[in-house]
Amino acid sequence: MKTYAYGFPRIGFNKEYKIYIEKFWKEEISEEELIKKLTELEKNIINVYQKYIEVFPHSEMTFYNEVLDTAILFGLYNPKNLKEYYELCRGEKALELKKWFNTNYHYIVCDFKKLNKIEIFNNIDNISLVFKRNSKFPHIIGPFTFLKLSKGLNDKKFREVFFEMIYVLNNILKYFNKVQIDEPAFSMELTREEIDIIKEGYKKIDSDKDVYLITYYDDIDFIEELYDLPVKGIGIDFVRGKNTYEKILKIGFPQHKTLIAGIIDGRNIWRSNFNKKLDELRLLSKVTKDIMISNGSPLYHLPLSIQLEKEIPEDIKECISFAVERLNEIKLTKEYFLSSVVINQKPIDEILFKYRKEKIFTKEKIVEKKPSYEERREAQSKILNLPLFPTTTIGSFPQTQQIREKRKQFLENKLTSYEYEEFIFNKIKEVIKFQEDIGLDVLVHGEFERTDMVEFFAFKLEGFLTTKNGWVISYGTRIYRPPIIYGDIIRKKPLTLNEILFAQSQTNKPVKGMLTGPVTMVAWSFCRDDIPLKEVAYQIAKAIREEILEYEKNGIKIVQIDEPAFREKAPIKKRNWDDYFEWAVEVFNLATNTDFKTQIHTHMCYSNFSDIIKYINRLDFDVISIENARSKGDIINEFKDIGFNRQIGIGVWDIHSPYPPKKEDILEMLENVLKVIPKQNIWINPDCGLKTRSWQEIEQPLKTLVEVANFLRGKNSL
Ligand code: GLN
Ligand code: ZN
Repeated sequence: MKTYAYGFPRIGFNKEYKIYIEKFWKEEISEEELIKKLTELEKNIINVYQKYIEVFPHSEMTFYNEVLDTAILFGLYNPKNLKEYYELCRGEKALELKKWFNTNYHYIVCDFKKLNKIEIFNNIDNISLVFKRNSKFPHIIGPFTFLKLSKGLNDKKFREVFFEMIYVLNNILKYFNKVQIDEPAFSMELTREEIDIIKEGYKKIDSDKDVYLITYYDDIDFIEELYDLPVKGIGIDFVRGKNTYEKILKIGFPQHKTLIAGIIDGRNIWRSNFNKKLDELRLLSKVTKDIMISNGSPLYHLPLSIQLEKEIPEDIKECISFAVERLNEIKLTKEYFLSSVVINQKPIDEILFKYRKEKIFTKEKIVEKKPSYEERREAQSKILNLPLFPTTTIGSFPQTQQIREKRKQFLENKLTSYEYEEFIFNKIKEVIKFQEDIGLDVLVHGEFERTDMVEFFAFKLEGFLTTKNGWVISYGTRIYRPPIIYGDIIRKKPLTLNEILFAQSQTNKPVKGMLTGPVTMVAWSFCRDDIPLKEVAYQIAKAIREEILEYEKNGIKIVQIDEPAFREKAPIKKRNWDDYFEWAVEVFNLATNTDFKTQIHTHMCYSNFSDIIKYINRLDFDVISIENARSKGDIINEFKDIGFNRQIGIGVWDIHSPYPPKKEDILEMLENVLKVIPKQNIWINPDCGLKTRSWQEIEQPLKTLVEVANFLRGKNSL
């Protein structure tokens, strides 16, 4: 028995990954220096692995994203230098970013339609593959997963390209003796044809090489069909693939192959229960002797080490394992297994029991069915009295260096809370004036007080912990710190009431109260394993509802509940979706179950609604704002198809692009929308918050939005 691990976070103990890449972008260091720095970082990672683990890939480093690296490895893109590589990742000509399975990590999408020619060849000498080339045991995202996540291939082309990639893969394998190939897409719901293609292709893989085929994130429906492939080992996520685990116990595992048993969790942070893990291992070892104990999914979903956190209470800390601690767990599991010691570990739910007083999911009926949308609409429009095509923004305004600096000073006690608050309130005053001058109809307070749309609420709510160094990469060099939910969520004090009320006191126009929704809150936090997600979300929903009730008491007329991660935790297999969306819809509706005269907005900033539109339509909002600029308006048809009769905010400006939107483009977009959505249901807004932009970048576009609205009002008066 051996130990195996993969996917260790590349961020670095001092955020070296982010720092050096961004230095390169600012032209502060050269290409050679960046390569040198990331090579050092890679060495450090290997050193960490070596302390705990026997077998692990030696190169998982990437300059940005490993899916893009696969596209380059097979010649689909051929950047001549790192500058060209990064042009594929960011800037005007960048490829699309998409969420990676049901995680908050993102990958670069290869669009075959936009390629000049599709030619598959071994491109391992490409500059951006320097880490793979120089490694004895590299890591590659497999061709099936790569193609499954790409765009613009029909079934026939998919087949062709897949087989070509397998052919070229054998060429690439000549450089190495060992390689790890990740095929997480095997955990999707695949068709018979797709499974056959996988088998046919992988049968041709060079059997002289040690190929470790690693799958993760969910059950593999066709696991037994992978048994004859000429690979050395198969990795399976037993943490999230319980059915596959049961199945293997029943049907066995091929004798001449290594089972890379992913029994240690790579996605959540709660310490492993060794007795449970050892039981699993014992049963597996009856099926096969050739086992490597491993993590169930890549470790980069976890922060680096809990030891870096000095302020987390000891009892909770002892329950937490980040990436380094996971490696140690893999090591210990093996040692315990071989020595058959008795393990005396206090169960986590016992330790954390005191933080969970409320027996949560009592579902007491605070919920009264809201009146119909028509009734709500009538009441609301009397109160709000908005013009046709109301204009608004999604919430945040530029988070400038100055704001971050002040917050830092405040956290370091160099600024009193009074001084900090005064600073924030001044900002709010400015942004209200700014919006009034531009002529927007529904105003926002700008969200200057927030570090992040989830972490900010975690600071305020009981039951949440935040970390100082618990960074996780979301994409490229973008990092965030997921909060930890360890107990009952209770709202002991207002979340953001003072800011909203102050903003409203500065204007006669309506100010939207801004809150992050319960589904997004659980999606972007680490939640307990022993409490169902829906119970946690239910408690958060109750807290949000309390906040809205208080807004209402104080005269706020509009509230927006952001749910950008509404679909994120939806299971990979669609057959499991109903269960998930059942509670996701329920908690959203609980949070917004307040006075029907309050206009409820929600915001979701992705396109691709087609498969979830029926769930969205069950949410009790009055206005939904959506992305519309990047998808060129396609998504409107989804709303038309379900006979959507509520109001919709059209995200006409792609705020992720530094280029201002053109008036003609916006008008054209809206003329198209007007063909399917009645004019009295249309709002005009950017497609997301403005926090990443600068003040110079937002003024003109917002003015353009208002001009367009005025123009359309003239043309379409009732
Ligand atoms: N209200 C948030 C903002 O404007 C919404 C962010 C998001 O959708 N990701 O920043
Ligand atoms: Zn958004």
